[in-house]
Amino acid sequence: MRIILLGPPGAGKGTQAEVLSKHYSLAHISTGDILRESVKLGTVVGLKAKSYMEKGELVPDEVVVEIVADALKGDSVKEGFILDGFPRTEVQAAQLEGVLQEAGIGIDAVIYFKTSEEVAVARLSGRRVCSKCRAIYHAKNMPPKIDRICDKCNGKLIQRKDDEEKTVRNRLRVYDKQTAGLIDYYRTKGLLKEVSGDLDVQEVFEILKDIFAKK
Ligand code: ADP
Ligand code: ADP
Ligand code: ZN
Repeated sequence: MRIILLGPPGAGKGTQAEVLSKHYSLAHISTGDILRESVKLGTVVGLKAKSYMEKGELVPDEVVVEIVADALKGDSVKEGFILDGFPRTEVQAAQLEGVLQEAGIGIDAVIYFKTSEEVAVARLSGRRVCSKCRAIYHAKNMPPKIDRICDKCNGKLIQRKDDEEKTVRNRLRVYDKQTAGLIDYYRTKGLLKEVSGDLDVQEVFEILKDIFAKK
């Protein structure tokens, strides 16, 4: 199964990608995670991406497309993959098509997480992530068992710098301007499946399983 998760920051894409990738044994490719790791390691990609990410702007297309093309070459993706947070522009979508065509494969479904701005803002401001294993928590909705400690690996939970209020607002504007057009792009191709991102985690997961059962 090859799936794209589309929707505004805070919609719950990363959370569902974690659950789905385990359930269906799919590779989870999150461009945000790969970029954050690159910034941390100070690689060439990281140096190019850092200033954009801090402002909540999109990293240039050619940088992210290369990351994804590389990730899709790995062995683990042969069984299928979930693209989480990519593509985010029409240029990225078109280039992804080229990469997949060369590999002789296609996308099975694009899941659009329809989420209100109010919910997205509340989610992002409470988001906490594990500094070690990247597991996702929420201070109110999905708190860890022990305050600020990851249930899975005992790592320290942190707040992403770009989850601070002023950057959050900009990221939502950037989504509306540069990414939301992909909803129609994939609808036209007959690939779009819409789910309400405002539902709770288990409810969304059940709906997604129903969608994939029909695929
Ligand atoms: P969220 O999960 O909140 O949507 P991500 O972790 O996906 O955030 O992305 C964090 C940041 O990484 C984005 O604000 C952007 O700067 C950069 N980024 C991630 N994916 C892409 C992409 N496909 N194109 C451009 N920039 C990206
Ligand atoms: P995205 O990858 O789309 O930016 P995340 O999966 O990182 O979104 O989720 C954003 C925040 O909302 C996290 O703190 C996460 O714990 C929380 N969250 C995710 N899905 C739900 C949900 N269905 N209900 C309530 N909170 C959620
Ligand atoms: Zn952890």
